[in-house]
Amino acid sequence: MASIHEACGVFGYYSKDRDHVSEKIYYGLTSLQHRGQEAAGIAVCDTHAEKENVCFHKDLGLVSEVFDRDKLSSLKGNIGIGHVRYSTTGDCNVENAQPVVFRYLKGTLALVHNGNIVNSDLIKDELYRDGGVFRATSDTEVIACLIAKLRAKTNSVEEAVKLAASRLEGGYALLIMSPRKIVAVRDPWGLKPLCLGKFGDDYVFASEDCALTSIGAEFVRDIKPGEIVSISKNGLSSEMLPRIAKPAHCIFEYIYFARLDSKIDGISIFKSRFEAGKALAKAYPVEADFVTGVPESGITSARGYAFESGIPFEIAFHKNSYIGRSFIKPTQEEREHAVQLKLSVLKDVVCGKRIVLTDDSIVRGTTIKNLITMLKEAGAKEVHVRISSPPFLYPCFYGTDVPDNSQLIANHNSTEEIRKMIGADTLGYMKLEDLEKTVSNLSVCKACFDGKYPTKINRG
Ligand code: AMP
Repeated sequence: MASIHEACGVFGYYSKDRDHVSEKIYYGLTSLQHRGQEAAGIAVCDTHAEKENVCFHKDLGLVSEVFDRDKLSSLKGNIGIGHVRYSTTGDCNVENAQPVVFRYLKGTLALVHNGNIVNSDLIKDELYRDGGVFRATSDTEVIACLIAKLRAKTNSVEEAVKLAASRLEGGYALLIMSPRKIVAVRDPWGLKPLCLGKFGDDYVFASEDCALTSIGAEFVRDIKPGEIVSISKNGLSSEMLPRIAKPAHCIFEYIYFARLDSKIDGISIFKSRFEAGKALAKAYPVEADFVTGVPESGITSARGYAFESGIPFEIAFHKNSYIGRSFIKPTQEEREHAVQLKLSVLKDVVCGKRIVLTDDSIVRGTTIKNLITMLKEAGAKEVHVRISSPPFLYPCFYGTDVPDNSQLIANHNSTEEIRKMIGADTLGYMKLEDLEKTVSNLSVCKACFDGKYPTKINRG
């Protein structure tokens, strides 16, 4: 059975004295909502209480649907962690929402996780053989059980986390709350993002720095690949996992996932998308009346294309921002309808025009095909498509929700075949060799484009 994908957002807050951090976490999660809209949850704890008192709430829905004032004020504590979840088709139920709160012999652990563990089935079997409380279903539960099991043999959560991490293969940004501390850990490849911020004397962890800004916290630094950071009443301590790996930061964060105003591992998302547009203009010049992008993630590369080519930028679509992402709708029919619900064409702008249209990626081809049809129906003369990522050819094992090979249009069609299928006049994909330049040659994982996976892969 395939593991459940966990492409999500995490947020943690540690305060020595503030007694209601749930509100901060609520705002932090709201700023990470783009990373997952299916479920949300918060767990908090009061470190000053005599008895450990982790309490939590999680449910399906947006952060604003899952929490209201009453729920937030019932979550009392000076430390806490939260999660927004992005699930694949079929596994959207509340049992898979996070935090996972795990009560075991030595106490309680709460855990939030962004990523995907490729050897989780193996660890799950081992845990299962141990019996007792260590029975896990999702990747996050596997990690929680593993830490809990190892905690019994060690003197601190940090030690248990370190031992557990040495067993995990894959992408993970984890926040673990034990009743007195928060421990953050990032996989040795740095596949998943995680950063540290400060708000006065309080410490904050977030998948992206846009969530720090939203609560007025200042960015301190990215957590290093393979680093464990622990915050307790004694302040911050950091150590590295023994495993050293070549960094392999997920390129898809820059192409699509992360928010435009974030910076991950020193590289601005806005700048990388703008650079991608410039690279496309150099690689695939064309005569056109204007450049436009598919809202939202295609807009910045359209601006980059316009800047480099000198062709003006125009807005050609209106976006209804209140509709969920079209990609995750379960059936093809629903997906196609969702595109039209979400985007409509500005007829007066496009009629009679030759248009360059940029988008971040083509997965199944549904979105771009629909948009070209809509542009042509509105009277566009030519539509030249430029995609700011190379053809999607391989599955992601680290938590990016990509459908299996059979649904990846580029997996069984040439660029020319795809061009015809989507109805574009010309089609240009980002060249693989140009990709790293868009992120100032950061060491990235681009396995979805070149099939070179940085970790061992358990293909099941
Ligand atoms: P498709 O319509 O199947 O070709 O999907 C392409 C569209 O989905 C593009 O407009 C992307 O912005 C978006 N997209 C690409 N990858 C993902 C992903 N992992 N999750 C959600 N949306 C995505």
